[in-house]
Amino acid sequence: MTASTETSEPIHVMGAGLSGLAAAIVLAKAGREVHVHDIRDDSGSRFDGDFQALENWSMDDDFFDQLASWGLDASSFKATTFDTVDLIHPDDVITQAKTGGVAYRIVERGTSDHTIDQGFKRQALDAGVHLHYKSRVKEEDCTIIACGPKGTSAVAYGEIFSTDHPNHIAFQLNDKLAPGSYSYLIIIDGVGLICTCLWRKQRKSERFLNETIAWYEEHYPNLNRQPIKRVGGKGDFTINRRYKQDGRYYVGESGGLQDFMWGFGMRMAVWSGVLAARDLLGQGDYERDVRQKLMPYVRTSVANRWLMNRVGDRTFKRMCTAWMNDQAKRGDGLVWIGKLFRPTMFKRVLYRVVSPFMLRNDPKAMGRGVRRMPFRPALKRDVWQPSAAAQAVGQQWDAVRRGGGHVSFADDQESDKASQEASAISS
Ligand SMILES: Cc1cc2nc3c(=O)[nH]c(=O)nc-3n(C[C@H](O)[C@H](O)[C@H](O)COP(=O)(O)OP(=O)(O)OC[C@H]3O[C@@H](n4cnc5c(N)ncnc54)[C@H](O)[C@@H]3O)c2cc1C
Repeated sequence: MTASTETSEPIHVMGAGLSGLAAAIVLAKAGREVHVHDIRDDSGSRFDGDFQALENWSMDDDFFDQLASWGLDASSFKATTFDTVDLIHPDDVITQAKTGGVAYRIVERGTSDHTIDQGFKRQALDAGVHLHYKSRVKEEDCTIIACGPKGTSAVAYGEIFSTDHPNHIAFQLNDKLAPGSYSYLIIIDGVGLICTCLWRKQRKSERFLNETIAWYEEHYPNLNRQPIKRVGGKGDFTINRRYKQDGRYYVGESGGLQDFMWGFGMRMAVWSGVLAARDLLGQGDYERDVRQKLMPYVRTSVANRWLMNRVGDRTFKRMCTAWMNDQAKRGDGLVWIGKLFRPTMFKRVLYRVVSPFMLRNDPKAMGRGVRRMPFRPALKRDVWQPSAAAQAVGQQWDAVRRGGGHVSFADDQESDKASQEASAISS
């Protein structure tokens, strides 16, 4: 097995997640022999039933139109569209952001038939891709590196529960419950997820999830939450000097192609996979295309993250107010949030100024000049005692866990170990 860009030779992809499968589908449809290797036993195992949002505000193009233009079939997985989201301010005021279009599409990650991972997997199999699960390969033997996060810049923890509450989505900016970040509630067809994201590294991090759940129970009294399992994982945010090196293409989170501000990485994962495949088919230049099409958004998100790292609830409140005022003026809640994500001259300059201070060199990146956003340390304000309600949530979860409730983010450590072993084999 060798890494190859010769048209007659098979192409090996490391990682059967969204970016790797997107690349494989495009290549196989063009007649190339493609082998995708994943250390886990199936696509989506890393996420195990997590809901994730395909955002639809950062670019002019609708993401599903983009998928269609790349030959990817959005009807192969379940996606639930929302035009309204509860916006929860840090002082617990709840308003609604609304649009006439599509704000979010919620998809499920995991191994169930209706997940986006399985939808992509089916498309890959239909296109003739050879999938090898529980397969360990060396990085230098693969042409496309698509194995997701390696390091940790941030984490998210959530609880999946059953509920009889109607479909709903809420997004909360609250620096206590979600340090430097946000929490959310998603309910689709009787299954709910409450999740909190931590952009600062914490001891006893489960207390943030318990406190967040307690908050939602108090403010959404009809949840009737019955815990099923806990999910989560890490995000890896890096800037790379090169995205293609020694004939290898680094896509998705393996290439650091992520949203540094809030972690909406799926769109860039799929897009980068497609761009790598097109380069291999002689229809583009991956290095150039990543820089032109994706990096302006990535750099904007670095600038946004730098700003976010400097603020707390007072600024979060101002953001929520500005968002709602803008919506009242324009009649569309997507405009304000869209502007936040879009490149501007100010964000470009800010990126140039702050990125040298914000990012740390990764010495193990095989000469690609990778600079990672470190997981920031906790602040004094992150030390607090859990409320009685949060302690009760924790005790309830302990009972569910003793009865067999699964915690999937433990698996990320398995992936870390496997990646380290794979790098050790390589070097
Ligand atoms: C809890 C959580 C919530 C998130 N929510 C959102 C959201 O709401 N919206 C959004 O847009 N993004 C979200 N993201 C980010 C999004 O999931 C990622 O950006 C996206 O999945 C990255 O795609 P990828 O193809 O790079 O990696 P993945 O989809 O993670 O796929 C990587 C694959 O590589 C495999 N692998 C790992 N190591 C190896 C190895 N050594 N050899 C072979 N295979 C390997 C893994 O098993 C996995 O199957 C979230 C992330 C987390 C952790």
